[in-house]
Amino acid sequence: MQLRPALPARPFGPEHLMRPVGAVADSVLGMRGCLFTFHRAAPSEVWEGLPNRDFHLDLGYLDRLLGYLTHTGWAIVTLDEAMRRTARGEPGDRFVNFSVDDCYRDTFEHVAPLFRRHRAPVTLFVTTGIPDGTLALWQAGLEDVLASRENILTGSGRLAVKTDAEKRKAFAALSAAWDGPKAAAHYEAFCERNDVDADALHAKHAISWDMLEVLRDDPLVEIGGHTVNHRRISSLSDAEARDEIAGCRVRLQKKLGIPVRHFAFPYGRAGDCGTRDFALVREAGFSTAATTRKGLVRRDVDHFRLPRNTLVGGHRHLALAEMHLTGITGIAARMLGRV
Ligand SMILES: [Zn+2]
Repeated sequence: MQLRPALPARPFGPEHLMRPVGAVADSVLGMRGCLFTFHRAAPSEVWEGLPNRDFHLDLGYLDRLLGYLTHTGWAIVTLDEAMRRTARGEPGDRFVNFSVDDCYRDTFEHVAPLFRRHRAPVTLFVTTGIPDGTLALWQAGLEDVLASRENILTGSGRLAVKTDAEKRKAFAALSAAWDGPKAAAHYEAFCERNDVDADALHAKHAISWDMLEVLRDDPLVEIGGHTVNHRRISSLSDAEARDEIAGCRVRLQKKLGIPVRHFAFPYGRAGDCGTRDFALVREAGFSTAATTRKGLVRRDVDHFRLPRNTLVGGHRHLALAEMHLTGITGIAARMLGRV
């Protein structure tokens, strides 16, 4: 039986008002490509109660977005294909790529199956410390503990986290306090204080090499690198940056036995990766490097600083996606200096 992609729930919503804007730009600029990125995804009923839900896409929204793109004539392609189309630069060509950064268990359980159902490809940027178990998944662990308990112990005492609002507030406060080089140590102390099995939580949230082997064999999945330890590349010495960039490529190629051509910078904004880092990615043997600077891919795009538009969990309207597709969000970000 052939599964048809889901139709958008509201086929004539405000997102359609944006489309003429893109068409006018196309008549001047020709080909248009839009690269989307996100991290995690959860079923709608789970998503509602997540303490860090901006980090997760609502799968129902992603399903609607994929259906909308197909019905409005966008080709959903791999990055390999996106680069071929960029080189051709055919006027009127419109393509979209989706990439998942980091890669958690939900990439295997929810995201890849949804793309398969739409017969659409997806690119996975893997941080190899996740399947290797060497990178502490402190945000996922903290979120899980908050979601499953009614109160927690912090360094300053007991904190009630009964309601969704309390859980979200606690996540925001604790993750802001821990963020930085000592995050893993803060998380370890938190787990000890709250009698949490950090290894079990890691296994619950991490993608495994077994899962990646299955995904590698899926013709709709393209696998790229996203460093070893998810470090901010611009903050590293040359040697450390090389280890992070080349190290993930070597590890992925060894474990999965496939060429790894694409790289995505952790964080990916202007302060997180610069000219030296783009050169290091090229030197490591990759063909492209993706950032999270908003914007569209046009024919003259630099393959080592590809713009990507981040999809955030809380933005569940197709009109916002359509604003990314027209390039308006990229123009606005540059005008506001948010690069
Ligand atoms: Zn990342």
